[in-house]
Amino acid sequence: MSLYTKYRPRDWNSVVGQYYTTEILKSALKHNRVGHAYLFHGSRGTGKTTSARILAKGINCTTLQDGSPCHECTNCQAFDNGNMLDIIEIDAASNTGVDNIRELIDKARFEPNQGKFKIYIIDEVHMLSKWAFNALLKTLEEPPSHVKFILATTEIDKVPETIRSRVQRFDFKKISREDIISRLEFIAQSEGIEYESEALSLIARFAKWWLRDAITLFEQSIVHGKVTKEHITHTFFIIDEGTLGAIVKFIAENNTAAIITTLGKLQERYIDVRLFFEQILFFLKDALYANSESPIFWTYYRIFEGIEAAYGKLKYVPDTNLLLEITLLKLAQKSEPQSIVETPKQETPKKSPSIPEKKEEIIKKIPSTPEKKEENLPSPIISPSRDTKESPITNTSVLSKDFSFAVWLNHIKWEKAVVFQSMKNCQFKIQDTTLTLSFNRKWDFDKVHTPDIENFLAKTLEICFGIMYTVHLVLNEWTPQGNQLAKTADEIF
Ligand SMILES: [Zn+2]
Repeated sequence: MSLYTKYRPRDWNSVVGQYYTTEILKSALKHNRVGHAYLFHGSRGTGKTTSARILAKGINCTTLQDGSPCHECTNCQAFDNGNMLDIIEIDAASNTGVDNIRELIDKARFEPNQGKFKIYIIDEVHMLSKWAFNALLKTLEEPPSHVKFILATTEIDKVPETIRSRVQRFDFKKISREDIISRLEFIAQSEGIEYESEALSLIARFAKWWLRDAITLFEQSIVHGKVTKEHITHTFFIIDEGTLGAIVKFIAENNTAAIITTLGKLQERYIDVRLFFEQILFFLKDALYANSESPIFWTYYRIFEGIEAAYGKLKYVPDTNLLLEITLLKLAQKSEPQSIVETPKQETPKKSPSIPEKKEEIIKKIPSTPEKKEENLPSPIISPSRDTKESPITNTSVLSKDFSFAVWLNHIKWEKAVVFQSMKNCQFKIQDTTLTLSFNRKWDFDKVHTPDIENFLAKTLEICFGIMYTVHLVLNEWTPQGNQLAKTADEIF
């Protein structure tokens, strides 16, 4: 049995990285307040299906243990042995026999066989055919009291609004690196496997936010009962942070000779160019966070931007090694040499303490910061109009120059992908230190219009621009032809 299967969570306490969601579901089970339909949304590997199974099992469990299934009662055991007829799992992605799905859903009106409820878990629900959706909708509109639905999807936009409005929705977050590391530690300790902490953090970095990949990598990295940094570095072509830091430093210092030497050494071993780009982008992301208030930020940002643009071209070029070399050399020749004094702390990126005199410099570098009060000065990103009813500014080109919202969106994309999705199509306007975002769809507006997310947006704006903005959200206030964040977003992503 693989470690992933062995350590697949069976109760709420072992679901990783979804604390609030699991607390709510646990509480619903405990207090017997389970709704009749749920929609779990999130990217792959975030624990949607696992949570759906725990919930389904819990609903039919006769002796719940603190809101989690007991694994002992007849119903729990039937589920574990695959004999639970009342929990019907459908994978809409692989089930092309649509009639079968419709038939299954149509049968919902019959009483459960052994459990209290008949529960349908429909994975990748957005893949259902029109007919199957209609059958589902019919049942959702007049749900028999003995039926519950747990729908899961990676693509919420493809789930019809008629379905979405009849279910309780939960968004599953990407799992943080810290959560992945602590899960790996737990598994290592339970299995009696020795490990180096650095090795686990390398795995977590390499697997990004995919817990399943991280556990698989961890398992593949066990050599003689140990997981070591050295072995991982060699097996998975991971470039150590010292080397990544050196390359970035050489770019900033225009030291092309050193770049060529370093790349040469790496190529002796073999470089997976895609992985190289991904690793250096993650490295730079941490560097940007760690230096958000320092002038070095702009050096890192320029390099980040250049490398990310090249990363997007990878699949179109025949010789990726050449693209890598040219990208690094081009970046090194782009501007005046700058020295990077400090190397970023990688494992726990924290904001460096603010240095007032340096902050001055940063503000100067941002074109037209809203701190300038002179109303008559033509300002590239601030709409000079005071009339809020007027349509937003139309000059987008200025926004994508020099410094733009791209860095902010990028930040949001990494931190909260779901919010990013909702914001991609909104329009924006800046007036003094107020940023107004106008949403076209109520669904997106509702998603972002919560105190937590508004705070998050204000905080990230401060991190990216060094200025406190007030974020104001409106629904459908402007005409569709305005500045769309997506215009800048698409240029980057
Ligand atoms: Zn049970």
